[in-house]
Amino acid sequence: MELIKMRSIVKTYGKHETAVNALKGIDLSVNKGELIAIVGPSGSGKTTLLNILGCLDSPDSGEYFVDDINVESLNSNKLAKIRNLKFGFVVQNFALLDDYTVFENIKIPLDYSESKIKNKKEIISNILKKLNMEDKINKYPTELSGGQCQRVSIARALVNDPEIILADEPTGSLDKKMGQQVMDIFKSIKNEKKTIIIVTHDMDIASQCDRIIKIEDGNVENSDYALV
Ligand code: ADP
Ligand code: MG
Repeated sequence: MELIKMRSIVKTYGKHETAVNALKGIDLSVNKGELIAIVGPSGSGKTTLLNILGCLDSPDSGEYFVDDINVESLNSNKLAKIRNLKFGFVVQNFALLDDYTVFENIKIPLDYSESKIKNKKEIISNILKKLNMEDKINKYPTELSGGQCQRVSIARALVNDPEIILADEPTGSLDKKMGQQVMDIFKSIKNEKKTIIIVTHDMDIASQCDRIIKIEDGNVENSDYALV
């Protein structure tokens, strides 16, 4: 089933002679449960694309559907709701708050979610258990390795049980071994029927995905090059 559908998505930053055409008409479809890699040179538009996918930014033109909902038709309240419920975000430098513990960092999205959640402690402990990080629950990010910090940020992305995980160079700050551990987590999340889109420079990481989408200068080079 098609979960994500983009048609002719255009995004330009700035105006007139300083304008940058970051996305020049992107067509993209992603099925439920797919693990997708987005690769491409620096400046090719990968982060811009991910931000539009995650409803953090909106395109200048084109159509974007999530679960057959036309994102353009949503008011800002509904957009925020979709963003918080459907998406979990992971970034290269983890974006953890240093003066919050692991537990407090992971709890942030739960505190922002609308429903009253009573068993926050239990939800967070269960996720940390799955990521082999249960013993770090009361540590601070500065007491952890890079790989452990990325696992905390993945836990934070998962805590609202989103359908789609968007990860922007999640292994970019990690050495090979820790990067592979993070990739193994994404693969196990996929087995829980989540849809995952990973931006990466690392072809070892990309080649473990179901499909590679190549972005070049704001265009999709090949969206249907399947590895499996
Ligand atoms: P990538 O993630 O592939 O490196 P980006 O999506 O970050 O590429 O950037 C695509 C292009 O848009 C680049 O030329 C970049 O300089 C430009 N760009 C990105 N964000 C902004 C912004 N906020 N303002 C102006 N230009 C931007
Ligand atoms: Mg980028």
